[in-house]
Amino acid sequence: MSDNIIFAGFPLDPADHLRGDDEWLFEKITHAESRFLLYAKGRPLMNISDGLAPAFKTVDDVNRITGGDWAQTDWVFIGNDGEIATFAVALTHKLDLPSHEKFIDLRSIALQVSKDGFVSLPSLLGRGKMLLEWNGRRHFCSCCGHKTKADRGGYVRKCANEKCSAEHFPRTDPVVIMLVTHGDKCLLGRGIGWPEGNYSALAGFMEPGETIEEATRREVFEESGIKVGNVSYIRSQPWPFPSSLMIGVKAEALTTEITIDEKELVDAKWMEKAKLRAIFENGGDEGFRIPPKIAIARHLLEEWLQQD
Ligand SMILES: [Zn+2]
Repeated sequence: MSDNIIFAGFPLDPADHLRGDDEWLFEKITHAESRFLLYAKGRPLMNISDGLAPAFKTVDDVNRITGGDWAQTDWVFIGNDGEIATFAVALTHKLDLPSHEKFIDLRSIALQVSKDGFVSLPSLLGRGKMLLEWNGRRHFCSCCGHKTKADRGGYVRKCANEKCSAEHFPRTDPVVIMLVTHGDKCLLGRGIGWPEGNYSALAGFMEPGETIEEATRREVFEESGIKVGNVSYIRSQPWPFPSSLMIGVKAEALTTEITIDEKELVDAKWMEKAKLRAIFENGGDEGFRIPPKIAIARHLLEEWLQQD
């Protein structure tokens, strides 16, 4: 098993030991060789002239675009490639773009650039999106309501009210996603509003105070009425929509009778491994569409199908 899953494999050095140094950051953010990724509403600016590549900008470009108003612009340090620093900048106004540049939804980028195999670009773009969106939502202190200021290259926001001085850190919301099995069958569910034939592994946000095992057992029981015993970790996936970590597990069912939660699912069913294997070999069928490559559910199912 590899960790080569879409949105994993961050390609740069996040340089935690450097990004807290304001002088170093200033040198890098004004350096002619530094690279800047631009985002509009979470969509990275891409160069579409030959496939899809980030439309990296220089500091001079960014100064022209933003009017040099760095204090009013959300920006974050993403990481270093050797001596070259990469930053992400959120734009709040419309840009006149040349015909070879376009802001593109990250899901779409991830699917397109990964179609021939693993690449680390979605991880790079995802980190910029997550950090910028978090900064954008935390301009005010949740303790006292005063303004906050970004620090450590955008990895912390500090309350500017001296009496408060609260520090706020980027959040990651953990989600458990589980392949529930019983003998040679696995449990698949179809969420409300999903197209006919779209089934996937059950999933849900973890609640405060839960272990991964407890969250898995609770979610499976709530959604399907199935009781789960053993839970074992398989793999995880960063999911930048807006800022989750998908924790993929295998869960062994103790019971088989399904009672769906109609607020969450329209259907849930047990699927035999041999039948599912045949569907995967055929590229899916009307009753079951294979989850897209971008989804960790696809990997959980494939790994299970590869086992005897
Ligand atoms: Zn405060």
